[in-house]
Amino acid sequence: MSSVSHESAKAALEAAEARFIANNPLSKKQHELAVGALPGGNTRTLLHTSPFPLTMKQGKGAHVLDEDGHKYLDLVGELTAGLYGHSNPVIRETMLSTFDNVGLSLGSTTVQEHKHASLLCSRFKLKRVRMANTGTEANMHALAGARHYTSRRKVIVFSGGYHGAVFSFPNGKAAPNTVDKDDFVVVPRYNDIGLAVDTIRSTPDLAAVLVEPMQGAGGCIPGSKEFLHAIQDAAHEVGALFILDEVMTSRLAPHGLGFELGLKPDLVTMGKYLGGGLAFGAFGGREEVMAVYDPRVEGSLAHSGTFNNNTLVTSVGYEALKRVFTEEACVELNERGDGLRERLKQVTKGTKIMFSGRGSLIGVHFVDQAVEVFTCGEDIQGKERRDLRDLFWFEMLEAGYWTTRRGFVALILETEEKELEGFVEAVGKFAERHRDIMAL
Ligand code: PMP
Repeated sequence: MSSVSHESAKAALEAAEARFIANNPLSKKQHELAVGALPGGNTRTLLHTSPFPLTMKQGKGAHVLDEDGHKYLDLVGELTAGLYGHSNPVIRETMLSTFDNVGLSLGSTTVQEHKHASLLCSRFKLKRVRMANTGTEANMHALAGARHYTSRRKVIVFSGGYHGAVFSFPNGKAAPNTVDKDDFVVVPRYNDIGLAVDTIRSTPDLAAVLVEPMQGAGGCIPGSKEFLHAIQDAAHEVGALFILDEVMTSRLAPHGLGFELGLKPDLVTMGKYLGGGLAFGAFGGREEVMAVYDPRVEGSLAHSGTFNNNTLVTSVGYEALKRVFTEEACVELNERGDGLRERLKQVTKGTKIMFSGRGSLIGVHFVDQAVEVFTCGEDIQGKERRDLRDLFWFEMLEAGYWTTRRGFVALILETEEKELEGFVEAVGKFAERHRDIMAL
């Protein structure tokens, strides 16, 4: 990589950022106000973008509209939770009818929570399930359950793994805010069978192995079938539980990605879109393991949460999964995602832009050298080009596409094919426009 093209990348990025500032005065103003109440103007770290984030005012169908009046095709899809888009009539109708006919906070068990739970069990092949408010909570309770069930403490996770706000393992280490940090053993490479199996066999006091079947926040890196089966088998060999984090991936196949790959996890954690757009988490699996949460049993674990069985989320999540994201809709959406990824690869051939992922979830990476094997974040360490990634983000905004700054696309059901074609075209034009800095 010549210093000349680094210089032109810098110039292009500075110009794009200057246009961003000029085009978004109301978002800028809102950010300046927000810092007065929220540290950094933010209550969800991921959404902070320098020099300031865009403030969205409205979502309609497959689009979002910012405070300055720009309309974007929503390719963020609320990091997979926004699967149903912004205007689904089933969701609207269920919200209103639940409010009118049921009410919000009954302080009791309801028939509805059983309906939602039964649907989750049958769809995702779980014997028992419990609900929570977020994917983070689902993982927290699943881990507590695994520790109680095995009477052990340690948990094996993988570099690049993300299991929630307080369970994050970038670059082979537990992030500083990780809860029970010393209980985690981080395998330094995802998808490395030998390393994973050795670590599982040599870790004493191992309660569980916790893994995503495709790393989401870690860059949309699918786990190979062989890898996932090997760690499932090794976990069982040493008497530990195999916990599959499907918070992002349950949408990738009709019964979840684990089932698609023939896995039989002891516990599965879920969340995101399964609340139909409302806060949700769930964990479930084998009957004997989930029995640690049976309140009829002396010495069982407590699983509390005021909103665990909230009438709105159990109604909306249920109707949306049953009537909107049917098994057929799931297959179709993921096929569309595969087609989109292929077309994106075609229009960026020979450039530093690389796409990863599976089905309706796409990772976008910018690398200095061609990457032949991409099985874990470590494979691209030192080759990533944040400047190009940022340039892409600014220029996609200008072209009318709302993507995450980190390079993640999650399709939503309402997006029309011709709009995705428009995105492919915009990406192709971007690669062409910056050929001097984008060519490999
Ligand atoms: N696990 C995975 C794999 C996730 O991607 C996420 C959220 N990005 C979580 C857990 C945590 O979910 P939540 O943000 O609802 O706490």
